[in-house]
Amino acid sequence: MTQQIPVLRVCISCRKTYDRKDLLKITKDHKQGIMLQKGMGRSAYICKSKKCYSDSKIKKKLQKALKTFLEPEFVEIFEKEITSYNNYPH
Ligand SMILES: [Zn+2]
Repeated sequence: MTQQIPVLRVCISCRKTYDRKDLLKITKDHKQGIMLQKGMGRSAYICKSKKCYSDSKIKKKLQKALKTFLEPEFVEIFEKEITSYNNYPH
């Protein structure tokens, strides 16, 4: 039996390390553009702490991490997604 080793990723806002499943993944997919929790390509991770996702600089940080321009609509979707994600029982 192999032991399950958690995959650790760094939150782009607070720079703390978390288990990947506790983070929201934002990917710049090669074909489909920006995607949440799926897609292939350059990815950035953000933790569920309100301090991080509601950071006024988060869009800038994401743009830098993903090397792309984010539409204002994306930020709305992203905020909606992460707040509902926060409400999931776990
Ligand atoms: Zn964070």
